[in-house]
Amino acid sequence: MKTAVAGFPRIGAHRELKFATEKWFRKEVSDAELFAAGKKIRLENWQLMKTRGITSIPSNDFSFYDSMLDTAVLLGAIPERFRTAPLSDLERYFALARGHQSGDVDLHALTMTKWFNTNYHYIIPELEDDMVFTLQNDKPFNEYREALEAGIQTRPVFIGPFTFLHLARYTGNKHRDGFAPAITSVWKDILERCAAEGIPEIQIDEPALVTDLSPEDRAFFTLLYRTILDTTGGVRIHLHTAYGDVRDAWQEILALPFDSIGLDLLEGKKNLALLSSSDFPQDKELTIGVINGKNVWRAEPSATRALMAAAAQASGLPESRITIAPSCTLLHVPVSLEAETALDETLLKRLSFATEKLDELTTLAGQGTAGNNGGPSSSSALKDTPVSSEQTSSTPPRQSQDTSDECTRLPPRQERSVIQQRRFTFPYLPATTIGSFPQTAEVRENRARLRRGEIDRETYEQNIQAMIRQIIAFQESIGLDALVYGEFERNDMVEFFGENLAGFAFTRNGWVQSYGTRCVKPPIIHDDVSRIQAMTVDLAVYAQSLTPKPVKGMLTGPVTILNWSFPREDIPHRDIAFQIGRAIREEVLDLEQHGISIIQIDEAAFKEKLPLRRADRETEYLDWAIRAFRLAHSGVRPETQIHTHMCYSDFTGIIDEIDALDADVISFEASRSNLSILDTLAEHEFKTAVGPGVYDIHSPRIPPREELEAVIRTMIEKLGITTDTAHRLWINPDCGLKTRGTAETEESLANMMAATRKIRSELSCDN
Ligand code: GLN
Ligand code: ZN
Repeated sequence: MKTAVAGFPRIGAHRELKFATEKWFRKEVSDAELFAAGKKIRLENWQLMKTRGITSIPSNDFSFYDSMLDTAVLLGAIPERFRTAPLSDLERYFALARGHQSGDVDLHALTMTKWFNTNYHYIIPELEDDMVFTLQNDKPFNEYREALEAGIQTRPVFIGPFTFLHLARYTGNKHRDGFAPAITSVWKDILERCAAEGIPEIQIDEPALVTDLSPEDRAFFTLLYRTILDTTGGVRIHLHTAYGDVRDAWQEILALPFDSIGLDLLEGKKNLALLSSSDFPQDKELTIGVINGKNVWRAEPSATRALMAAAAQASGLPESRITIAPSCTLLHVPVSLEAETALDETLLKRLSFATEKLDELTTLAGQGTAGNNGGPSSSSALKDTPVSSEQTSSTPPRQSQDTSDECTRLPPRQERSVIQQRRFTFPYLPATTIGSFPQTAEVRENRARLRRGEIDRETYEQNIQAMIRQIIAFQESIGLDALVYGEFERNDMVEFFGENLAGFAFTRNGWVQSYGTRCVKPPIIHDDVSRIQAMTVDLAVYAQSLTPKPVKGMLTGPVTILNWSFPREDIPHRDIAFQIGRAIREEVLDLEQHGISIIQIDEAAFKEKLPLRRADRETEYLDWAIRAFRLAHSGVRPETQIHTHMCYSDFTGIIDEIDALDADVISFEASRSNLSILDTLAEHEFKTAVGPGVYDIHSPRIPPREELEAVIRTMIEKLGITTDTAHRLWINPDCGLKTRGTAETEESLANMMAATRKIRSELSCDN
């Protein structure tokens, strides 16, 4: 059997790309130096895959920020305001991703959102009516040649036209259908160019095929590819799908002249049945995703071989025409286990990151479905490894079920709201932040020095206390109403809790790209989860002792902790979520007992694992996700205010479910999605008090006061806020401030407060 990889992590083995890019942002390195850093990573990745014996090695999977953005730029789908700005190509590229503010140029970044059911964020292309797509650069071809010059044959990867148009945002009157001629024509150019370059084969990613598709969607898919594949100049076309099954469009896929089709057999639960139920065209090849590209566990060899055998049988293809692959791009797992010398030996043996997954693939391919025709290369490594489905803990999983009482907060929200209003006496439009303040060099240094043993715990804590004093004083000075303590103790909102809960393991270098240069290091849940000790109580209590204003306790919710970790696979996700929910509940009650009056439980990633298909959502996810969150907070007294926060998702489909979380207040990322959430909230008569972020914290841009006033006015108008309900609209940035610089943060927040005061006084006059 052959092996293929649809994409490899591009951050570099030690996050070299992040560091180089951030230096470029700070103008510390030249364009050429940044390009060289990218080239080095690409070459390392190709060499690695070549030495590990991968048959189809990807190219053009590299990106300086995001592949959707690269695709938009490749096709010339650049909004006019960026096109006409006096910027270099590279500046323009990053301006699209992050916004740009210098001289006369003041550009908002394009919107960013989660890529299918992953924690990777892509840039949403904005398509304007008069855009004509033409091939704008040589990136895919240059990278192909670069690999070839290094002696490595690659398969260039492209995001396909269907997914591109499916995920794009249309700013004018023209929609998907209107762009069909333009996109098919540019795609013909791409294929022609591939043929001219002598590229034998390309991979086209169409993950949108695993979502619910209407008959019109399917017809559109066919229309696009009928035209595009009509002449391919001899370039073989591999259609890659991932993150689910292709149940809706399967017949259309089969009917089109793709040379090869890639199916995810792990998340795509129905894909095997689709293969069995149809006559797979024997002139096509098949790629099957059999190694989990989204989790870090070593595959169980006999189960994997059984899956391979089942797919061979279902397709009727000989093994020579079947390629095995990870279930999706390896972008979602860390690069390699090499640095993980501190992990427990037994756990380490069960793990597999991107590099190790390459070995798993080649070993499996060498053995074939029978597991015995691989000769000497059929290493014992796979056969003898303990696998993820084997429990390491000797005890049976602890009781994880909720009892309904524990998941119901009393009295009902409306009654609590009256009680809380009396307690807090907030002004109209109460103002707050989401929790973290800039992670300055000083903040990081403090943690690093503790880790390196250069300072003791006491000094570390004193340093944090000093930072807390500063940040409380700052918040008081600008007039925020509900304060935060800044989260200076955390590297990451999930890692911090994982470190303080039983059942988690941590890697040294297990970084995964979240968006652009932002990487996260998800902990690994390998055993039952429980709270060992109080985690945030001391800091919250200390911060509260400094001010008469309420300081929010700050926790991460069970669903987010689960979704941003690599979960064990031997018990259902719902059981893990309840275990975490119970641990967080203990912390919530502890905070309350220590006098903390507002507790925020962040569910930044609440929507992340929402099944892509509507039919699966309620039963397979929402039902337990909602209860796990309620389990965490429903034990508090009526006068304790529970906040939550969510970011970066389109909440349209689940707005009632978010209400059902029964929090008192929720803040949302909204500013970067053009406040479209406001209409949804209004339509659904959203009950939870809400703070739709007034400005985008993912961009260094400082929002001017007048702009913020306009944003707040829009919110008031769209949500129908009156003086009677003005305590229900919260003013806050759209997410935590940890990734921002201090000066820009202070200025932005000061502008936010000035705008808030202005509008408050108008409301008071109206009254
Ligand atoms: N409280 C967290 C913070 O402010 C929330 C972060 C998030 O939503 N991603 O950083
Ligand atoms: Zn957020």
